[in-house]
Amino acid sequence: MAILELKGLDIAVENVKIVEDITFNINAGEVHLLMGPNGAGKSSLLKTIMGLTPYKVVNGSILLDGKNIIDSKPYERVKLGVTLAHQNPPKIRVRSKYLIEKVLEKQYGPHVTPNHVKELIEKFNVSHLLGRELYFGFSGGEVKRFELLTITLQKPKLALLDEPDSGVDLDSIKRVANTISELAKHDTAILLVTHTGNIVKYLEHIDKLHIMINGKLIYSGVPKILPELLEKGYEAIAIELGVKV
Ligand code: ADP
Ligand code: MG
Repeated sequence: MAILELKGLDIAVENVKIVEDITFNINAGEVHLLMGPNGAGKSSLLKTIMGLTPYKVVNGSILLDGKNIIDSKPYERVKLGVTLAHQNPPKIRVRSKYLIEKVLEKQYGPHVTPNHVKELIEKFNVSHLLGRELYFGFSGGEVKRFELLTITLQKPKLALLDEPDSGVDLDSIKRVANTISELAKHDTAILLVTHTGNIVKYLEHIDKLHIMINGKLIYSGVPKILPELLEKGYEAIAIELGVKV
């Protein structure tokens, strides 16, 4: 069964429709790319799946494991296994390690840091950040590494990843791609937004590609047109697909 099912989803902010008629499913362990130019509605779609304000579902449904979650609060969706790595995460005045502790507490009880978590902290190269306030003064790569670590620790059913490849150096992009492939191996369903496509060549597999322009999907299917998209850009692909944008 699909982990995530989007059915005829229309999204509005203050009565202005910004995303329209989104329908696709993601199965466990699949990696789906969501691509599109700036302002297409990619981040809005991800935040809506997470249940964040001010995004309102005006039509359609969002099913997680077959259950409609439209009326669930964001923290309820987290409990059900939905996670989001923001494009630009909000800065919070807590020590970074507090977030890690909270995630671990849910799984292992208070004050337990299993060895594999210590190894992950080393692997993601974030130990120097744990005593600092969350995301304050972090470099682009540090933000993305820390976000992906917290997502990995949550063992989510669904990971919504908003441009994890933007603002990071080449080595970090490879590491981010490896992390995504690992998550998929452990059956997490992945919806990965990339604007530039920088990360694409480092991913082990891509199962589906969704191209969004002006709030609508102009393509949703197997990723065979991806090389052409990366070479020619969104407008050329839209013309080729015979879509007016
Ligand atoms: P993308 O992530 O594809 O670059 P966004 O989802 O950020 O695009 O934005 C899509 C459209 O929705 C834009 O026109 C943007 O201005 C609008 N939008 C997004 N979030 C808000 C918001 N909180 N309030 C008003 N308009 C918004
Ligand atoms: Mg965005």
